[in-house]
Amino acid sequence: MLAAFSKLVYKICQKCMSVLNILHYPDSRLRIKAKPVTTIDGSIQKLVDDMLETMYQAPGIGLAATQVDVHLQVIVIDISEDKSDPLVLINPKIIAQDGVEKSDEGCLSVPEIYEPIERAEHVVVQSQTLEGGEIEIEAHDILAICIQHEMDHLIGKLFVDYLSEMKRNRISKKLLKAQKLNATV
Ligand code: ZN
Repeated sequence: MLAAFSKLVYKICQKCMSVLNILHYPDSRLRIKAKPVTTIDGSIQKLVDDMLETMYQAPGIGLAATQVDVHLQVIVIDISEDKSDPLVLINPKIIAQDGVEKSDEGCLSVPEIYEPIERAEHVVVQSQTLEGGEIEIEAHDILAICIQHEMDHLIGKLFVDYLSEMKRNRISKKLLKAQKLNATV
């Protein structure tokens, strides 16, 4: 009886669980260019919900659809400390940028690697909302960096692409080794 009940609870939880699998570098699917979202419907809402859950569980502060093998221009970001301020970007475009800032970046698709990367310190982004409207976001510092990092994913670019080929190869080898180990355990 108890076993049957646990099984039922497990089944229900499995149904509501929507943590997606995150692709890891050097997976070639991370190089696919995302297409613009043409219709913002229930499937996009579900994708955003799943992406937020995946990002919060990882945990991370940003996730692009490319990283969960969905090649649509959708990004979720939350830089708040208590995961209370999700930002959803659909078909985002950077319309202005200036300043330079160098800071350590990491990526859920490049686990446990952190390298200093140079980005614009300030960006203005135009984006569609889940409700079908349009917003303009003015971002500085970490939010600006995060937006640029996630938008790179949508064009198949990773932060390791800014590093030297030698460094990138070293990271690639390290991650492939870790992936093989994970696969055999
Ligand atoms: Zn990333």
